[in-house]
Order: sequence, then C-alpha cells, then structure tokens
Amino acid sequence: MAKQEDTFKKVISHAKEYGYIFGSSEIYDGLSAVYDYGQNGAELKKNIREYWWKSMVQMHQNIVGLDASIFMHPTTWKASGHVDAFNDPLIDNKDSKKRYRADVLIEDHAEKILQKANKEIAKAKKRFGDTFNEEEFVTTNPRVIKYLAENKAILARMGSSLEKEDLADVKLLIEELGISDPDTGSKNWTDVRQFNLMFGTKLGASAETATDLYLRPETAQGIFVNFLNVQKTGRMKVPFGIAQTGKAFRNEIVARQFIFRMREFEQMEMQFFVRPGEEMKSYEYWKETRLKWHLSLGLGEENYRFHDHDKLAHYANAAADIEFNFPFGFKELEGIHSRTDFDLKAHEEFSGKKLKYYDNEISESYTPYVVETSVGLDRMFLAVFSKSLKEEKLEDGSSRTVLKLPAVLAPTKAAIFPLVKKDGLPELAKEIVADLKFDFNVLYDEKDAVGKRYRRQDANGTPFCITVDHESLETKTVTIRDRDTMEQERVAIADLGRILEEKTSFKTWLAKL
Ligand code: ATP
Repeated sequence: MAKQEDTFKKVISHAKEYGYIFGSSEIYDGLSAVYDYGQNGAELKKNIREYWWKSMVQMHQNIVGLDASIFMHPTTWKASGHVDAFNDPLIDNKDSKKRYRADVLIEDHAEKILQKANKEIAKAKKRFGDTFNEEEFVTTNPRVIKYLAENKAILARMGSSLEKEDLADVKLLIEELGISDPDTGSKNWTDVRQFNLMFGTKLGASAETATDLYLRPETAQGIFVNFLNVQKTGRMKVPFGIAQTGKAFRNEIVARQFIFRMREFEQMEMQFFVRPGEEMKSYEYWKETRLKWHLSLGLGEENYRFHDHDKLAHYANAAADIEFNFPFGFKELEGIHSRTDFDLKAHEEFSGKKLKYYDNEISESYTPYVVETSVGLDRMFLAVFSKSLKEEKLEDGSSRTVLKLPAVLAPTKAAIFPLVKKDGLPELAKEIVADLKFDFNVLYDEKDAVGKRYRRQDANGTPFCITVDHESLETKTVTIRDRDTMEQERVAIADLGRILEEKTSFKTWLAKL
C-alpha cells in the first residue's frame, strides 16, 4: 500500500513539475478537486481527445460528431431521470463531521475481506510452489471460502437495499459490519440520505424571472435530444452513432484521488442507435472495440479488465466497465452501457415530439435501442500519464526519470538541439525547427550539456531528440535519439519529417487498430 501511495505522489508531483497539471486557482490555496491543465497537459489532453475522435468518427462511416451545449432545457433532466434518481447515498460521522459515500464505505470494507482471501491464496501459492492448484484451494480452504462468501453477501445486501431505496438497511449494514470513520475510528453515524449530484444554476437577469438550470452531469442527453436533427440532416441509417466530447459536472460527495474523480470533468461519449433486439450484438461489439482502442496505446494488457455490473442503472439492460490499474488499484475507466430505448422514449413522452425512426428496409417505424460508450478524458489522462512514468536504472549505475508516453499522444514530438551554441549549429537547428513545425509540435533547446537536455526531454515525455553537430554542416545529417531505447541513429535531415510521421502520426497509430 505504501508503495502505491508513493507512486501516486510521484505522479502528482511530476505532473506539476513538468507543466501537466496544476491545482485550480492555486494562488488562493486552490479549490478542492478542481484542476487546470498546464502547457503540456493541454497538449496531451487534446491528443487523447483527438485519438478518440478520429478512431470513433473519422474511422467509422456511420458515426458522426456533435457539439451540444452544457446548458439544456431543465425538463431534459426530468425526462432522463437525473432529477429523481441521480443520487449517491451519503452518511456523516457525527464526531469527525466528515462526509462519506455510504456505498463506498461498504465496498471498501468488502474489498478488505477480499484482500484477506487473496493473502491466504498468495501464502499458499508460495508454500506449495509449482504443485499449487488455485482452483482447488479456493473451493476447499475454509478460511478462503468464508472470506469470499462474506464479501459476496455484503455486496449483494448493499445492492439490493440500494435498489429498494432502503437506506435504513444501508445504515444497519454499516453498523453490523462495525465500519468506522476511516480517519478517526468513530462509529457515531448519522442516517443515510440520498444526495443529488447535479449542480444547479440560474438563467436570467432578475431573481423573479430566472429559470432554474442544471450544469449537465453527462454529455449523453445532448445527443438524445438531437437524435432526429442529426439523423434527418445527415440522412443517417440505423445502425449509426453520434459522438461527442465535452465538459460534465457532478457534485461528487467525496472528490479525491487527483483527477480521477473531479466535480468538473470531460467525457468522450458515443451513442450507437440500433434496431430493437440487436442491442446485445452491438454491446458485445463495442466492448471489444473499445478495449482494443485502449490496448493500442501499449500500456500493458494486464492493466485492463472488464467488470460486469450487478446493479444496473435505471436505464440499462446490460452494462460493463473497462477497469484500469490506476496507482490506487483497479477502477472504472470507461463504461459500456446498453441503454435500451429508455432515453428516446422518455424525451418523446416529456416533449410530446416524435423521436421515432422509419426503417425503410423493414418498412417499420420504431424507437431505436442505444448502446453507449462513455470514457472520462481526465481518467484517460491519468491512466496514460501514471503508467508512462518510470524510474529506470541505467547500465552505468545512474538512474533516469522517463515519461514513456505513447508517441502519438506526446505533447512534443521532437526536441531539436545544437550540440554547441556556436559554429553555425544553432542556425541549422533552428532551420530544422522552422521546417518541422508545420506538421509537428517541436521545440528548440540549447541550454546545458546535451546529456542534461536528453534527461529533461525524457522526463517531459518527448519521444525523440534530434542533435545537430559539426558533421551535420557537411553531410546534412543529424542524430536522432529514441527516448525509450536511448539509441541514436544518424539520419538525413531531409528524412526527419518522414521518420516523425511514421513514428508519431495519428495515421500510423490508427492503422494498427
Ligand atoms: P463512478 O462509479 O466512478 O462514479 P460512474 O459509473 O458514475 O463513475 P459514468 O456515469 O458511467 O461514471 O460516466 C462515464 C465515465 O465518465 C466514467 O467511466 C469515468 O471515466 C468518467 N467520470 C465519471 N465521473 C467522473 C468524475 N467525477 N471525474 C472524472 N471522471 C468521471
């Protein structure tokens, strides 16, 4: 655990030191769980967004984009169920005055019991070595059986109580399990209450005439209310998708873990409209397709897993998360939801406008079913950034900090150095920058010894360093150093554009999908 915390601390401090992420309004001591993306962060975020957009919209003939407003007519959120059901159960500790999510307290408790089972398994594995049969051990060892059953029973009871809105039982469960305030150990709890996560605001000049609005808690509804606009004007035929990226806002009860859970964050969502009855096929397709997209970034297959939902949201008939191994363990990165016809039907009912699709092929009119893929851009950022940050021991005994960002996402694709600040080397290096800058984000650096400049770019995440030396003046060649292998190669200046294109372009990376 201590190691995990250390790693996470390093991620946060590196993100700040290299201009990726700053706390919001830091000069006023910051605002809890709100962050700003710095000069490098803004580029990385933009590149992640673009990689997603191109893979979804540009690469699919039947998916188009949309950019809907954050403000929407307030009835939207009545229809979508958010006014009545977008709640988290909260509980306060009367002694510490701290507020928690009741479901998270219970889940954490259940996870600790699961960890006890995992410890027993790990111990046995060590003891028995190659002869160890995990399956047999898990089904016969009384302690492991007891822990696993306890874990399951706790989660099942919580799931059913939440589904029935039986908040008294959620509190009873907390008491029965002896769960205490993680910070103070106090067990003096208030009752559990539902807390709506939407931020309210007002539209209009005077208090009397102002309309109550919400900041959207998800981008999806902008897509649903525009479903027919896009379908008709784009002459789209089911199956087709509408993709959108944009800000969403949730008044999270506990916003912790850096940019993992924020109150203002960005989503990248795609709603795929299909014929009723074809949603499960589409759901499976999108689960696989989205996982492939994640894997294409090369952060390690072992860092992803699917988690099927036991408790489904009010609109879903199937749902799974793609979980990622963040510095604090496996947590949701993306959700894939089969949302049925719930949203379109609800908007039809509340607006009184028809939102049906006439399917020429089968001469039938119907409300399409929807499969949604929804990934948090900031969570993607954290996934990519945290897994890329490495501390490496080198052959000469020294060590280096290197940010091995996938080249397609790296803020700067190449740094150009003159070996020394004289003899016409800076001029040639600047000429190279002037040529490459039309196609790539490149930077010029002449300060400090070259070795130090390499280290600086390693930590910055720049995949290539190009050095201009005296030989360059005669042969029109330079050395190009690979951040990950640290190998250097001499290449013609005329080839630099092609090399960077091959290694860092969206085209190269998308073609591998
Ligand atoms: P969680 O269970 O972690 O609260 P969720 O199931 O409520 O997430 P969804 O409503 O499915 O999340 O939203 C889709 C995606 O949006 C999530 O997979 C996540 O990547 C992102 N997301 C949701 N809430 C936040 C948040 N507060 N901060 C950052 N990203 C978020």
